Amino acid sequence: MGDRSAIEWTQATWNPVTGCTKVSPGCAYCYAEAFTLRFKRGGRFIPGHTTIKTHADRLEMPLKWRRPRLIFVNSMSDLFHEEVPDSFIIETFQIMKQASHHVFQVLTKRHTRMAELAPKLPLPDNVWMGVSVENQHWVEQRIPELKKVPAKVRFLSCEPLLKALDLTRYLDGIHWVIVGGESGPKARPIHADWVRRIRDDSVAAGVPFFFKQWGGRTSKARGRILEGRTWSDMPLKPPSPPTQHRPVGHQSVSLAEPAASSLASEQPMAQV
Ligand code: SF4
Repeated sequence: MGDRSAIEWTQATWNPVTGCTKVSPGCAYCYAEAFTLRFKRGGRFIPGHTTIKTHADRLEMPLKWRRPRLIFVNSMSDLFHEEVPDSFIIETFQIMKQASHHVFQVLTKRHTRMAELAPKLPLPDNVWMGVSVENQHWVEQRIPELKKVPAKVRFLSCEPLLKALDLTRYLDGIHWVIVGGESGPKARPIHADWVRRIRDDSVAAGVPFFFKQWGGRTSKARGRILEGRTWSDMPLKPPSPPTQHRPVGHQSVSLAEPAASSLASEQPMAQV
């Protein structure tokens, strides 16, 4: 967790919850689990991955980050995990509302709980809501639930992409599509035809498309070039990337920018 991130489609991570349990095939080689195990082997005490822990002491961190950032919420867990109390989730959203100079990206595989809780959550325009969809079954289960959530930006993370997806009937009301292959020693293969089809369907529907990586042994092993170029469209203009040398200022993030502005990242990890 920190105010920098190597994940291509975000700028920082914030983990008010850690620990998770597996719910679908995309979880098989969970990055958060592998990360936790690695640190346990190193002798540092971190509760096991399946220990769900809320961290009240981390809630106010984004309020202290003065420079606007695109923040991925819970890269090490799932905010809508069944063991996270409603009250803690609501408090997390209240902080996101208060920290209106940032943009927050909330990604879940607990689509049902997210949709059920949505009416109780403050959902300001700076909070983007998304679901992971790794195969067609989860397209059909998770996207309709996501569409019940009245977020300004609703997004899909098709990562790890495990099968071909037909998104054509599902893209109305979706504002961003991310695709990525799996990475790690047991990475399952991704096929270029699957990626091209999602790209073509997204472009045809006018939905910004972001290709994160081909995956492989490491997240950068095969790069992120698709048909000769990177695909880094964003649904709205993100906050200016943080740099170390500029004076700290409090810029406001324009959420009224036109869709599909390109981040055009030159950089060649995320879970939930
Ligand atoms: S963090 Fe994400 S990938 Fe890992 S077990 Fe939880 S839902 Fe699955």
